[in-house]
Amino acid sequence: MQQIDQIVQKQRMSEADLIHLLGLRGEEKIRLFRHAARIKEEQVGNRVYFRGLIEFSNICMKNCLYCGIRRDNHTIRRYSLSDGEIVSAARFASENKYGSLVLQSGELQSRQFTIRMEKLLREIHTATGGNLRITLSCGEQDKDTYRRWFDSGAHRYLLRIETSNPGLYNKLHPDDGHHRFKYRLDCLYCLQDTGYQVGTGVMIGLPFQTTADLAGDLLFMEQFNIDMVGMGPYLEHRETPAYAFRDLLLPREERFQLALKMIAVLRILMKDINIAATTALQAIDNLGREKAIKVGANVIMPNITPGEYRDEYLLYQDKPCTDENALDCITCLETRIALTNNEIAYGEWGDSNHYQKRDKGPGTRD
Ligand code: SF4
Repeated sequence: MQQIDQIVQKQRMSEADLIHLLGLRGEEKIRLFRHAARIKEEQVGNRVYFRGLIEFSNICMKNCLYCGIRRDNHTIRRYSLSDGEIVSAARFASENKYGSLVLQSGELQSRQFTIRMEKLLREIHTATGGNLRITLSCGEQDKDTYRRWFDSGAHRYLLRIETSNPGLYNKLHPDDGHHRFKYRLDCLYCLQDTGYQVGTGVMIGLPFQTTADLAGDLLFMEQFNIDMVGMGPYLEHRETPAYAFRDLLLPREERFQLALKMIAVLRILMKDINIAATTALQAIDNLGREKAIKVGANVIMPNITPGEYRDEYLLYQDKPCTDENALDCITCLETRIALTNNEIAYGEWGDSNHYQKRDKGPGTRD
């Protein structure tokens, strides 16, 4: 017990400290969770910010070995929402006081895509009276594209590193020139320089991943000075090459507990960032997102993609709530969040406190 108290008080936690915390079980784990909950309450309050998630296209030029919408998975129907459908979902988020929107898609790198997104960002801004913060999650792009989207009204960008261990990254991505760890890292730095609030994340419980890798992920986020994090348990998908390694995986409940510990430790390590309670947690435990909120998460991303497309955006299998519409989603979440003694911060942007305090790049806006 004493050791936990000493570790969590440290100004700088070492890799060994983090490995120790991630290995806690039973009473000691509960103690860790209570400490993270206290820090959350002090630093960001018992409030949960909504980000309306629009998964607007599952077309992807990449082939990550673990992903259900990878280019070579020919078992799924590809879709791309029209601009009108996206703007209408954005209007829904605005009218229902979500405060923020996330536009997520598979990765496309083309001049046409860059221009489409620029136009779309401006249309959303006009349609919603500029009252939504917009996060993009559209993968690796060049510096010019990131700048153009920022200038068109995107405020935040989410680019998950998936693992901070380059060796493990290489095991999980094909060696075809499109999946380079260093380029992904460069993109994160470029986003920060452009002035975005930058988010990243990792998968927890990947094949070949060690606890030291996860400790390294936490240190990476701290050293990078990240503003927002979305991370959850790795969930295998039958139609992917990584499925061949399923026998190496921890049982799902253990992956889930490890994910909760990652969230709790990250809240202690980076007290003022935004941390999402991801849907992948709910795929294992029906109350997974609520449990994450109780140990440090403060953001939830209700899915507002039109219901008929949701079955086609399965990065992993057993994804929950694919048969709900956006209004069902709100009612369900209100009840769930009330159970955690947190309140929904309706109509608030919920910018990362960390972003507001840290040194920013030259392109920064407000
Ligand atoms: S993880 Fe992202 S980039 Fe990789 S295949 Fe899936 S959608 Fe595409």
